[in-house]
Amino acid sequence: MLFNIKNQTIKLCRIKGIQIYTDLVYFMLVSFLSIIFVRQSNLILKTGISFPLVASSILTAILCFVSLLIHELAHALRAINIGISVKRINLVFLKQAIDLEELPRSPKEEFTVAMAGPLINLIIAIILYGVMIISAKFVPGLYQQHLILLTLFYLAIANTLIASFNFLPGFPMDGGRMLRSAIWTINKNKMKATEIVIWTGRIAAIFIVMTILLRIPNLATIIFMIVVVPLIFYAGPAELRLLQTRGKLELAKVSDFMKTTTQDYLESWQTEHLKVAIYCEANDSLWSAWQTMRQKKVGRIFVKQRGQLVGSISIVQIYKV
Ligand SMILES: [Zn+2]
Repeated sequence: MLFNIKNQTIKLCRIKGIQIYTDLVYFMLVSFLSIIFVRQSNLILKTGISFPLVASSILTAILCFVSLLIHELAHALRAINIGISVKRINLVFLKQAIDLEELPRSPKEEFTVAMAGPLINLIIAIILYGVMIISAKFVPGLYQQHLILLTLFYLAIANTLIASFNFLPGFPMDGGRMLRSAIWTINKNKMKATEIVIWTGRIAAIFIVMTILLRIPNLATIIFMIVVVPLIFYAGPAELRLLQTRGKLELAKVSDFMKTTTQDYLESWQTEHLKVAIYCEANDSLWSAWQTMRQKKVGRIFVKQRGQLVGSISIVQIYKV
């Protein structure tokens, strides 16, 4: 576990070559959830606060967090399966995402990568409900040890909630990506499909507000509403801007925006930054140059034409485009 003060991220572990990061907010949420489970279980069982009750509540809260991790891992493994490499998973509050090296190339790819996450939570929930029903029939007295029942029950509910929330048809939820890829298949226009999903997302946000205000207006649901609704309104247009930027950068050539650079400059740049120069071709698009900069974590790359150094381009110049 490694704590990075600058980004406030915590390196958790590495699974199949994917680095998993989380943040302090999730640590606080797991602690907060443990307290809620202790309180709720004590209200149901009325046994008083005992060590097994506290231990099972902490375990349940940790397993809820693990359910989120499994969700992101399912996205990542599906992406790897179709040939898109995934370097890291950010379990960072409100910015939870997998870091894909490139975007899915077709609607089918986008659909399956998006669906893998909520689908796995749905499967876990169904299995847990099944285990609860079957074991209650075949193992008499099992649920007299109510802590086991409660752990399974809370986890089933948590996975149902993660799946249902992510199936909502708007960005940044997976349902938004699934709906976009379905529309993209029909109209063959990813940009237009994105615009439509911005509106279905806003309708979903209004639906959340109405449901909470009319049916379950308590402190937790109102906090959820205040956090999530603006997120949906913001994430849709941000997704569209990303696509527009990508379209623009794909059409622009590096040679049209680079600065002429000498070998001396290249060498002094290497000495100053303690890095080996990374190259692209003058004919490459700005999008591919930007992708290379991101992957290699450099702010400038050098441009070659027929094997000769002809220029360089910085990330600031690309941002200006
Ligand atoms: Zn997801």
